[in-house]
Amino acid sequence: MAIHPLTDPSLTPESLKTAPVQEVFSSIQGEGIYVGKRQVFVRFAHCHLKCAYCDTPMTSPTGQCHVETPPGSGIIEYHHNPLSAETLVEIIQSLLKTAKHHSVSFTGGEPLLYHQFLRSVFPDIQRLSKTYLETSGTQADFLESVLPWTDIIAMDIKLPSATGEAPQFENHARFYATAQSHPTTECFIKLVFNQRTTLEELAEVRGIVTHRQTPIILQPETSLSDRTVSILPSQVFAAENYLTQYFDDVRVIPQTHKMLNVL
Ligand code: SF4
Repeated sequence: MAIHPLTDPSLTPESLKTAPVQEVFSSIQGEGIYVGKRQVFVRFAHCHLKCAYCDTPMTSPTGQCHVETPPGSGIIEYHHNPLSAETLVEIIQSLLKTAKHHSVSFTGGEPLLYHQFLRSVFPDIQRLSKTYLETSGTQADFLESVLPWTDIIAMDIKLPSATGEAPQFENHARFYATAQSHPTTECFIKLVFNQRTTLEELAEVRGIVTHRQTPIILQPETSLSDRTVSILPSQVFAAENYLTQYFDDVRVIPQTHKMLNVL
């Protein structure tokens, strides 16, 4: 008999039952291959990385979990943190009823910091909708524990020219290989790049992404101050030309949710 994650004794009780969640809301996906799709978003607090372009607060303004309901209303309902798995599933269930949604996006911060918690909620969510994991793509061991219940992975490959941080290429390679080990999980790559990005960095992407059918999304960095994109068209084409030699599906997609002014 299959053991339900909530009753699996190998998992530690507290990390399984609660997690700090900043907000849960229904909106439009603004990045990647599912841009424009309606999703419920679950935004976790905190991240182990510090990307220079990061536009996400690491905690909510009140420390509580904010739930905008009804979607688009600006009316916020507050829930105490850390949030229980049962409460999160109930909130998602009620938001899914407000419209037809493509999937439930788990984002952050880094959602995989709470992989045991995710393991306890993903099976329930999968009964309601597809699970979509937005991740830095650096923690293969954490991914393993939720992979059987993950439908879509939006995996970042962090380019030091954009993050201002040390390379994560080895971690990305392990993560990508783990993602590929589960045939029904779809995975695409997101590369935030800017005018300092080099072809050497893009060559590292070739080494990590071993399947040429994996979609590669080039996402021009958006300025944190005025929300504009400052990379030159010639630089966009140079990056795109290089990657299309090695991958069948390369797309340049800026962040679109900022244009719509939605959450
Ligand atoms: S991985 Fe994502 S959440 Fe973490 S610092 Fe980078 S952009 Fe921000």
